[in-house]
Amino acid sequence: MKFTKNIVIFFALMVVFSSCGDGWKNYISTEVDVEMGKSAQNQYDAIYANQILDEKENKELYNSINLIKERILKSGNVTHADDFKWDLKIINDTVLNAFCLPGGKIYVYTGLINYLDNEAQLAGVIGHEIAHADKRHSIDNMAKEMGLAALISLVFGDGSSLINIAQNLLGLKFSRDNEAQADEYSVNYLYNTVYDASEANGFFEKLEKDNQTQEVSEFLSTHPAPENRKQVMLEHWLKLGGKKGKKFEENYSRIKSLLPKNTEKSW
Ligand SMILES: [Zn+2]
Repeated sequence: MKFTKNIVIFFALMVVFSSCGDGWKNYISTEVDVEMGKSAQNQYDAIYANQILDEKENKELYNSINLIKERILKSGNVTHADDFKWDLKIINDTVLNAFCLPGGKIYVYTGLINYLDNEAQLAGVIGHEIAHADKRHSIDNMAKEMGLAALISLVFGDGSSLINIAQNLLGLKFSRDNEAQADEYSVNYLYNTVYDASEANGFFEKLEKDNQTQEVSEFLSTHPAPENRKQVMLEHWLKLGGKKGKKFEENYSRIKSLLPKNTEKSW
């Protein structure tokens, strides 16, 4: 990535930025997301080196989960479907979660796959994570944490300092607005696929019922409460027209049977 120093542009942008909320999106190239994502991906791949399922050894499992990702990317609602290289890796751990790094690097825990009841529910969570990357929420986060001036000066600096700072900021929680937008787009994406978009909130529905387990409590301590989110997503689905789609329950049982045996938990 080539960063150009241009003090005139910098001050011109300062004026633009001070007058519009997320106007930075028009000026900070998606290359920044891609570079940040690559750098973070290297770190996460090292952290989870012993837990990331090998793609060759788990071909059928990866094909099934990647198909969900591909269907969402082809929904026509993902702005950066072609700009990012959307990788997906499966981490063998009982954690009930998934995450996506800037530039489209998705990680899904086997615990989450095992916990859900159908493919549409998993598509809902993957859609939510894709939305975080597609709406560039990490950059939004950085702009808010550091202030726009500092962020822009980094982008127009030599690049290396941006990557370093990005590493520290990637661990930050997304704002409630970011989470709400990711929820909304998860429904939008699924609505334009074969999946039942009313199931996009299925994860939250299950969490609400099961809030006594330790893994669920951990999730709830770092994310906004599911109840309200579940309802908002359902209302959004109704607003879109309430069209029903497929849940692929049987196929999902097959997907779960492909998980490593140590993933199983007594929920
Ligand atoms: Zn989220």
